[in-house]
This record gives sequence, structure tokens and C-alpha cells, in this order.
Amino acid sequence: MKQWLQKMLYGRYGADQLGTFLMIIFVCLAILNLWLGWPHMWVIYALLLVCCYYRILSRNIYKRRAENQAFMKLYAPVRNWFKDKQERFRDRKTHKYFKCPKCSQRLRVPKGKGDIVITCAKCHNRFDAHT
Ligand SMILES: [Zn+2]
Repeated sequence: MKQWLQKMLYGRYGADQLGTFLMIIFVCLAILNLWLGWPHMWVIYALLLVCCYYRILSRNIYKRRAENQAFMKLYAPVRNWFKDKQERFRDRKTHKYFKCPKCSQRLRVPKGKGDIVITCAKCHNRFDAHT
């Protein structure tokens, strides 16, 4: 059985971020539909599942990788926004965040230092701030 599965999956693309995203959409829609009770939702479920399994079992690795890269290009700004908010929340007691007025670089400064001059690490622009 195990050998059969290994043999079947050999040379297949497998799971990736786009596949995971599609499965998360699938689960969210399933939960949402428990509440809404739309009768024809199974068509969307079936399409999502077929799409996921088609991608996982596909032998055209180059094409699946290109699809995933296009997805990651769209998804990266969203992921970075959440990551930024998470870091700001984690450091909220020890650091304060500033934006360089010249180049918009995000700058992290320790809290409780009073009035300071911040030098941008990217463009070396200097500006006053209170931490
Ligand atoms: Zn700057």
C-alpha cells in the first residue's frame, strides 16, 4: 500500500502555498455555508477540491510552480502587512516605529529615550523624534 502510494506520487508536484490557500478558502466556505445554507455551494466545493488535487497530482511541475509564484506575488504584500502588525504588537512595550520622511523606510527605535535624532539606515536622512 505504502509503496503503491509512493510510486503514484513520484514525480508529482505536491502541496504548495496556493494549494494551502485554496484549502483554507474551501474550509472557510464550508463553515460559512453551515450558517448560510446555500443549496448549490457543493459546485464551488467540488471546483476547489478538483483544482487542489489537480495541482497536487500534476506532473507539470514547471507550470504549477509558475502559478504558485504568481500567487505569492499577490499574496506577499498581504503577508507582509500582517507580519508588520504582528511585529509592532510584539514590540509595543519596548520599541516605537517611525517612517523615514524622505524614503518611507520603516525604522524601529527603543522606547523611553526621550527626544532623539533618528538617522535612517537606508538613506541616512536625519530627523527628530520623541520615544
Ligand atoms: Zn530614509
